Amino acid sequence: MEKIKMTTPLVEMDGDEMTRVLWKDIKDLLILPYVDLKTEYYDLGLPHRDETRDQVTIDSANATKKYGVAVKCATITPNAQRVEEYHLHEMWKSPNGTIRAMLDGTVFRAPILVSGVHPTVRTWEAPITIARHAYGDVYRNVEMDIPGAGKAELVFTAEDGTEKRQTIFDFKGPGVVQGVHNLDASISSFSHACFQYALSVKQDLWFSTKDTISKTYDHTFKDIFQEIFDRDYKSAFEQAGITYFYTLIDDAVARVVRSRGGFIWACKNYDGDVMSDMVATAFGSLAMMTSVLVSPDGKFEYEAAHGTVTRHYYRYLKGEETSTNPVATIFAWSGALRKRGELDALPDLCAFADRLEKATLDTIESGVMTRDLALLWDGEAQAVNSCQFLQAIAERMN
Ligand code: NAP
Ligand code: MG
Repeated sequence: MEKIKMTTPLVEMDGDEMTRVLWKDIKDLLILPYVDLKTEYYDLGLPHRDETRDQVTIDSANATKKYGVAVKCATITPNAQRVEEYHLHEMWKSPNGTIRAMLDGTVFRAPILVSGVHPTVRTWEAPITIARHAYGDVYRNVEMDIPGAGKAELVFTAEDGTEKRQTIFDFKGPGVVQGVHNLDASISSFSHACFQYALSVKQDLWFSTKDTISKTYDHTFKDIFQEIFDRDYKSAFEQAGITYFYTLIDDAVARVVRSRGGFIWACKNYDGDVMSDMVATAFGSLAMMTSVLVSPDGKFEYEAAHGTVTRHYYRYLKGEETSTNPVATIFAWSGALRKRGELDALPDLCAFADRLEKATLDTIESGVMTRDLALLWDGEAQAVNSCQFLQAIAERMN
């Protein structure tokens, strides 16, 4: 059988620990036999990040800007313990944080559904994707303890020295106060990423804030989204047969729970933090969750939503059997290959991505799965190790 040809390389970002082991197995068993794989390889494994003083992370982000599509393995974000374990020169920053900042991206996370594992919310039939704004609000706050009676004020001093001043509260006794901010530029980028992603997956986009209460702050989010939608995306949405829908966050919550799923829910930073955990848990597991970073100019970086599964890796190093779920990493590869296929007009590559995902889901639905899923499964399941699971998928591919 002739292998499927590619024209533009994928940016391949290798990673750490258990996911690095799975990464190689997925390529060897499920991709290389079928695809004449073209990648530009960046080793983001912690030892190589340390050797290059993290330059490799920056290079990989620049390559993503150049080529447009990347696939990333989970990576260790070092803490003090990792600095010792890996004898690091420095406590390097989170690669995801570095890449996100360079691409100015928004993260979209969606559950992967299989029949046999049921969402806790009975009406949900199709995945709900959370699009989380990743800048500002309470994550960049300034807060203060108010010791007793006195006036708290908001003061803005412009570069020319003029002031805007507003009373927050006339305290009669102790309390607390906090200041938060956001930027029109960041909100605009967030909205572009959401609209482009909705078009790329052809799903409706919902956006919710609390603009009735936050009449300036949240209203700015609502206005920027509406303005950019009307100017840049309205006709494309009409052509794609999808809609943009704004509603209040509390109304959105009620509608989401009553919905059948199958849409994208854009959330401000805090709402997205809370709601993505709620949605992931209600659908099943973090190992069954896709994650893609999308930049406002349409660059895509696919990854798994989980980490490097350290506990399993330490068992693997001791020679013990591990049953780590590779589905999210397989879907990172299929997502990236499909996107490359779409951009380069390679229908065979897109069809291969579909086939790989179908073989993966069919394997699970036939009752063969990793241990984490077997625990959530309805009926009789055969819990296998990671390698047996990948081999079962490979057999189905053939
Ligand atoms: P984790 O790797 O997501 O694993 C936490 C636990 O969740 C595992 O011990 C395992 O539970 C379960 N789990 C996660 N993924 C699984 C899978 N594919 N199959 C089966 N079970 C799975 O999170 P962590 O242990 O907090 O973090 C480990 C390292 O990953 C850290 O160094 C962190 O910096 C890094 N990290 C990277 C990313 C990223 O690159 N995107 C994201 C998060 C964390 P059981 O042990 O109970 O089986
Ligand atoms: Mg959280």
